[in-house]
Formats: sequence, structure tokens, C-alpha cells
Amino acid sequence: MLLGAPGSGKGTQAERLSAALGVPAISTGEMLRREVSRGSEVGGRVSAVMASGRLVDDALMTEVVRARLRESDTHRGFVLDGYPRTPEQAETLDQLLAECRRELTAVVLLEVPEQVLVKRALARRRQDDRDDVVRRRLEVYREKTEPLTELYARRGLLTRIDGDRPMDVITRDLLTALKGN
Ligand code: AMP
Repeated sequence: MLLGAPGSGKGTQAERLSAALGVPAISTGEMLRREVSRGSEVGGRVSAVMASGRLVDDALMTEVVRARLRESDTHRGFVLDGYPRTPEQAETLDQLLAECRRELTAVVLLEVPEQVLVKRALARRRQDDRDDVVRRRLEVYREKTEPLTELYARRGLLTRIDGDRPMDVITRDLLTALKGN
């Protein structure tokens, strides 16, 4: 599981880990954006919330992630990026993993200073990367998601990695952190 603020590089590193380890990246933000651009029913339900920088409701996320975890390509493992994002989602994830008899092996927090996060987000120019929305996304992260780092630290699963360095160096450290598992 990759944890980190919006703009911390989770998506990029999830893809790199996926390629290096031969397991899928489960990036919930990516999955939701795909639903929106396809104009699906789920997409219609989430597009306004996503554009505002707030979180999609937990019940819908449970169904999205449950369905994804049931796909056969997850058999050898997977990289979670963007889920869980609330303590409730973390609890649900435990249940979802129990359902498919899997266990979390590692949680990595990508640490990036706030001013770097804002700069990266504004350079990225995604639809939810407008200035006010970036700030909202960071607030939501601090309030709802950051507490998860404590939870996983207490379980002895958390590794912190400095995310304000070149991408290759971060990927190398991530792979080293995962080797221990
Ligand atoms: P991300 O690409 O991970 O930053 O996600 C983009 C947006 O998708 C977020 O700002 C949320 O609106 C929504 N989203 C992605 N993952 C979740 C999640 N686990 N729970 C709730 N909303 C999510």
C-alpha cells in the first residue's frame, strides 16, 4: 500500500512497482477517472465530488475495490494506490482482504513537503488541480487520510520514504523496503 498526500508521487511509483514486480497497480483515482471519461453510471455519480476535491463515499469505494480485488490478475499480489483514504476505509480493507484471504505486507508513506506538493499539483493541470481544489485535497488528506499512517505504524507495517527526490531513487528505495517482506 502506498500512502501519501496528493502530488506525493503515489501514482507514478505505483506504476513503476507494478512493472518491476509484475503485479497490478490498483489506483482508485485512476479507476474513477476512467469511469468519468467513459460516462458510466458510476462516473456520473462521482464526477462532481471528484472535481470539488472531496472524497467519494465509502460505500461506493467498497464496491469498486471489492470488484477489483476479485479480478484474477490480483492473485500474485497488487499495489494499492489511493485506497484506503479514511479510517473507515482502512477497516473495510481489512474485511475485503480477509474475504479474499490476503494480507497487507507493507505500507509505504511517501513524504513530500507541503510547498512541493502544491507546486507539483499546479504543474500537473488535471481537472481537480485548480488552486482552491488542490488546497481542499490537501486539507482532506491531512484530516482524513494522514491518521492512517499511525494505524499502520502501530501494526509495524509502515516504512517512510523521502518522496522529494528523483523518481528512480524513490523506486529503488521502495523495492528495497518491499524486499524485507
Ligand atoms: P487520486 O488520483 O488518488 O488523487 O484521486 C482523485 C480523486 O478521486 C480524489 O480526490 C477523490 O475524489 C477520488 N478518490 C480516489 N480514491 C478515493 C478513495 N479511496 N476514497 C474516496 N475518494 C477517492
